Amino acid sequence: MINDKKLIGVDLGGTTIKFAILNQDGEIQQKWSQETNVLDEGSHIIPDIIESINHHLDLYQMKPEDFSGIGMGTPGGVNREDGSVSGAFNLNWDEDKKVYPVRDITEGTKIQTFVENDANVAALGERWKGAGENADDVVFVTLGTGVGGGIVTNGKLVVGTAGGAGEIGHVTVDPHGYNCNCGKVGCLETITSATGIVRVARDMAEEYSGDSQLKAKLDDGDDISAKDVYDLAKENDSLALKVVDRVSMYLGLALGNMANTLNPEYIVIGGGVSAAGEFLLDKVNNYFIEYTFPLVRETTKLKLATLGNGAGVIGAASLVNDKGE
Ligand SMILES: [Zn+2]
Repeated sequence: MINDKKLIGVDLGGTTIKFAILNQDGEIQQKWSQETNVLDEGSHIIPDIIESINHHLDLYQMKPEDFSGIGMGTPGGVNREDGSVSGAFNLNWDEDKKVYPVRDITEGTKIQTFVENDANVAALGERWKGAGENADDVVFVTLGTGVGGGIVTNGKLVVGTAGGAGEIGHVTVDPHGYNCNCGKVGCLETITSATGIVRVARDMAEEYSGDSQLKAKLDDGDDISAKDVYDLAKENDSLALKVVDRVSMYLGLALGNMANTLNPEYIVIGGGVSAAGEFLLDKVNNYFIEYTFPLVRETTKLKLATLGNGAGVIGAASLVNDKGE
């Protein structure tokens, strides 16, 4: 079957909304973005999206019939029964207020709309057009302010019974560790997110007595970032290397166990922290090898994400064909 209809991908975030028009091969043909207006309990967001899509279709002289669908990634919890979203705090959509993007955007644009959680959508994007090389089995983990993830098995996104699948950030790696925002203790996110890495650095600096620029900065009360920790580790700063080693151990442990359970072809690491590149990948891989059994060690490969910010709109667009079938 030849389908020359286009796809629209929308990546809804707390500060910007990114839009793209793509062909069926996932190539971006047009893209634009606008600020997210979170005022008035986020009530302008969906109307703004509808208006922006309709305006751009006019601009490009395209019609709703030219599209097979709109896919959107959103923060918060997605209810797959009724297509509603709630608890997206960075959009001011709180827990007891339901928003209906599927219903409202479909109505407002006359194009069938599909919605999925933003971490899952980024996973779909990396799997389809990024480091996942369109393999059937791919796990994606994003190391940013938090730690998110998504799992594709047999070519399908794993969502779980209530949409909680793929929350790699809340895998327990240290039962006696730090408190997590989710209410649990010792989640991966508390150690390997950008904020977690800084927390580990502060704790380790207190007990460290060696000569280290990182320790000196922390003792001076300087603000440091996860990037500073990795940059200093690359320069062989002794404390920074210890921090990176500890973070890598926990990440290697969590990803190793994901691999032992799912045996994906690739585990793709993205998010701001992954900008530390091959250096980060090598360190994690050392532990990953230690924590995986031979068959998995030989067949599951860790890779760095390649799409960056673009993963969202591409993955969102792929929802149309995944869910529309
Ligand atoms: Zn947690």
